[in-house]
Amino acid sequence: VKRSKKTGRTEVYQTRAFDLARQEFGIETELRRAIDNGALRLAFQPICDLATGRIVAFEALSRWRTEQGVELSPSDFIPVAEESGLIVPLGRWAMAQAIETVAEWDRRTGGDCGVSVAVNLSAIQLQRDRVATMVGDILESHGVEGRRLTIELTESAIVADPDRTAHTIRALKELGTTLAMDDFGTGYSNLAYLQKLPIDVLKIDRSFVSGMLADRDKVAIVRAILSLAQALGMKTTAEGIETNELAQTLTALGCTYGQGYLYARPLPADQAFRLLSLSKN
Ligand code: C2E
Ligand code: MG
Ligand code: MG
Ligand code: MG
Repeated sequence: VKRSKKTGRTEVYQTRAFDLARQEFGIETELRRAIDNGALRLAFQPICDLATGRIVAFEALSRWRTEQGVELSPSDFIPVAEESGLIVPLGRWAMAQAIETVAEWDRRTGGDCGVSVAVNLSAIQLQRDRVATMVGDILESHGVEGRRLTIELTESAIVADPDRTAHTIRALKELGTTLAMDDFGTGYSNLAYLQKLPIDVLKIDRSFVSGMLADRDKVAIVRAILSLAQALGMKTTAEGIETNELAQTLTALGCTYGQGYLYARPLPADQAFRLLSLSKN
């Protein structure tokens, strides 16, 4: 409908909106195909115990190479997946793939390979999917114990539907899983949930960690999160550690775990396993 002949402004806007919608629709169609055809991969990034340097876990991060050979990052396609509901099959795929990978590493090690795997769960999944049943079924079918799995949630998951989320989280905990609050400090929720939910780990967002050595305010925020976690009996993971100096400072401040390019970038499963074999775990 072209009604604004006079200015042309509306028309331009409408065209852009249409293009955007069409582009998103295109991505959505391709993503649906990618999930079905196995074009998605998981990359694994180590999480280290800061005191000992040992790898304790790997975070599983989704990667998508499109049919045109373009490598898309999760920030490009996770929002589309969430809007379209495709996050449900994508999330199920990621959970199954991550747990299958740990089972595979155990087999190659001839026993417990010594690390757990952390999987991100979207707020939409918590609302729409029967997550605890899904996770329990996958663990069982691969013979993996729940203690080998960490679930990473963001504060948005809790804001969306507190009662339902609390119920699901308790069911996930009953499976023996660890619960981590991702990107802690960047959400809009109040802190009451820290008291009500069985959270094990606070992941301090990269925005507070990177550059904190040159920024007293960031140090103050990181310290506050660390002491809050300690008082509540929770562990902490600092995201985005890129330098030795940062690792040392965070260790001195009492942060439990660290994750970042200093240790390794997210790696294909085989490379992650090699890193694990080489490190003196
Ligand atoms: P996240 O869960 O906070 O994951 C950490 C992100 O920080 C990853 O980005 C990782 O590559 C990046 N990172 C780690 N260390 C460093 C560092 O030292 N420097 C810098 N600059 N970046 C670092 P990635 O892989 O692009 O993922 C972005 C976000 O997408 C994730 O943030 C997570 O929220 C979401 N995501 C990824 N995979 C999945 C998935 O399978 N399901 C869901 N629901 N979300 C996912
Ligand atoms: Mg995460
Ligand atoms: Mg995070
Ligand atoms: Mg983050």
